[in-house]
Amino acid sequence: MKAYEATQIYFNRAADLMDLSDNMRRLLSISSREIQVQIPVELDNGEIATFVGYRVQHDDARGPMKGGLRYHPAVDLDEVRALATLMTWKTAVVNIPYGGAKGGVAIDPRTHSPRELELITRKFVDQIHDVIGPDTDIPAPDMGTGAQEMAWFLNQYEKYHGYSPACVTGKPVELHGAEGREEATGRGVGILAFKLISRLGRKPAKTRVAIQGFGNVGSFAAAFLAESDFKVVAISDISGAYFRAEGIDISAALRHARENRGVLEGLAATEKITNAELLEADVDVLIPAALGGVITEENAPRIKAPIIIEAANGPITPGADAMLHDRETLVLPDILANAGGVTVSYFEWVQNRQHYNWGISRVRQELDRVMSESFERVWELSQERGVSLRTAAYIIGIGRVGRATVLGGIR
Ligand code: GLU
Repeated sequence: MKAYEATQIYFNRAADLMDLSDNMRRLLSISSREIQVQIPVELDNGEIATFVGYRVQHDDARGPMKGGLRYHPAVDLDEVRALATLMTWKTAVVNIPYGGAKGGVAIDPRTHSPRELELITRKFVDQIHDVIGPDTDIPAPDMGTGAQEMAWFLNQYEKYHGYSPACVTGKPVELHGAEGREEATGRGVGILAFKLISRLGRKPAKTRVAIQGFGNVGSFAAAFLAESDFKVVAISDISGAYFRAEGIDISAALRHARENRGVLEGLAATEKITNAELLEADVDVLIPAALGGVITEENAPRIKAPIIIEAANGPITPGADAMLHDRETLVLPDILANAGGVTVSYFEWVQNRQHYNWGISRVRQELDRVMSESFERVWELSQERGVSLRTAAYIIGIGRVGRATVLGGIR
């Protein structure tokens, strides 16, 4: 099943419970604008390569559209469209004044030099700068991009439009970025893990966690959870998965990755296991923090964790989601679980527009407030209506976007 079809299943499940008309469903489903562009670049070896870039702007009823820019070989229009819709519901669930968008370029960033990545980013901006801006659509990092790409993005955008630090978020702190943005998605996941297990009457020290992915999201989630006394027993990255029943020393793992070009290969005091073994490990909380579609109908029956927190976007296929629901596995959905990133992007955008630096403690305090309030609202609705946390989150998101659309009128 393609990514967009999967997100529409979740959308329709909530829309059915809301008695949303077909006309309204169509209005809230079809993207406002979809762009595909050509990115020709002269590679370091002198050859010309042509890449394809996308920006999908899904909905702007609640404010300027917002969403990351992904560099990954699997990027295509369908995936970007799916991820753009998720951003619309995500910004609505945490109630920040944005719509949803997403972009991407179909490349494997690990096979490109910094010079090539810079050229690809700048050429992409050349193609889309007219439809991007602080009041229209604000990109940010996603898989395969980070602060450096956002710095190039900003610099290229400003060549056309002049000083505009708020045209992109997730920038380096030395260049209008917000302190706390880099850690924000992982920290948000950690805050919610803590809230969820407390609600279930569990203690962090007695909670074993497995985290798939040790990139920007997984590594900061691991750090936050380890600091909060959780037992992180398994972590993984492209080099494989690593297990230690007594809990992995996460500061040592972070140090190891830093000194080893970001890779966990050779991590001491752990047993190497497979990626499948990590997903199926006997843990209390499983956190998929890498690619989408990793928990499927095939492996869902073997997943033992009673709690899954979707740090990645779309890690569970709808078929697997239904099976997990029947087994009463508690799934904290992506549109709530990983919303910490876009929330601190919002704080960065506000600071850029105020020309005023909040500092890290205020950012963390406000993130905690937004994540906690959003969690409470989703939890209460799921209890009240007897629906999954995912369906409750969609009902809240769709309800807010729907009301804004109707109040604004469609003339
Ligand atoms: N790419 C992140 C996400 O999927 C962050 C988006 C943003 O900060 O605008 O939520």
